[in-house]
Amino acid sequence: MASHEMVCEAENAHEVLFVCTDDACGRRVVVGKARPGLTVIDRGDFSARHVGSLGGISIEGVDVA
Ligand SMILES: [Zn+2]
Repeated sequence: MASHEMVCEAENAHEVLFVCTDDACGRRVVVGKARPGLTVIDRGDFSARHVGSLGGISIEGVDVA
């Protein structure tokens, strides 16, 4: 299984936007800070495993969404 890295593209006080670094994929997710949760904006290549982190926020295993 392919493994893609996700990086923080934008954040505010409540949420962080992560995007996949693979151009052909384009997966984007929003991760909640205060309340753990994950919203998929663009599914991208959902057969790939996506990992990424920012500070204390880890999104390993985001493909469950
Ligand atoms: Zn990806």
